[in-house]
Amino acid sequence: MSRAGANTPGGWRGSAAQIAVGRASIIKWNRTRHLQPKCGAARKRDGEPCQNLAMANGRCPRHGGKTGKGNNWHRPVWPDGNAPGAEAKLNRKLNDLQRAAAKRAKRAAAMSPEERAAHEKWQKTHKPGSAAARARSRRERQEGVAVREMIESRPKPVPNAEAIELDRIIADRKAELERLREAEKGAFG
Ligand SMILES: [Zn+2]
Repeated sequence: MSRAGANTPGGWRGSAAQIAVGRASIIKWNRTRHLQPKCGAARKRDGEPCQNLAMANGRCPRHGGKTGKGNNWHRPVWPDGNAPGAEAKLNRKLNDLQRAAAKRAKRAAAMSPEERAAHEKWQKTHKPGSAAARARSRRERQEGVAVREMIESRPKPVPNAEAIELDRIIADRKAELERLREAEKGAFG
């Protein structure tokens, strides 16, 4: 029987007491392991529950891990081109993305109008990319709302006689232009 690190050059082996402590804690863990909450996500192999140990959110790190943060928030992470089997990885990734998109489309198709509106609003305000870009577009949206409110709350100018006369002249000119265009069409069309 060989233990990892035992009798290997540069290997480390603790004292008998340290080994006993380690062994006791592993035995204790193995006794309760089957009682720990398990991930319930459908696994790819057979669609049965995944059964890996679950995190606080009820999913294992593979099924409920964090979405990429920083500049790659909600953006796919492509495999390194030099990695072994990079092409197969890329194809798997593309298939996964396609499947996810089809699933999303199916879910969107079954939505009520209110649900769809909420969904579209979320999509609009949660574009993939960096947090800075999202913060910037959020600020722009808020500024846009403020400007619109300011414009709408501004008192409308009361038309005076001069403005009414100008409007009449503009309408006359437009009508004349339209007549000339029609005449031209008749001559060359
Ligand atoms: Zn899982």
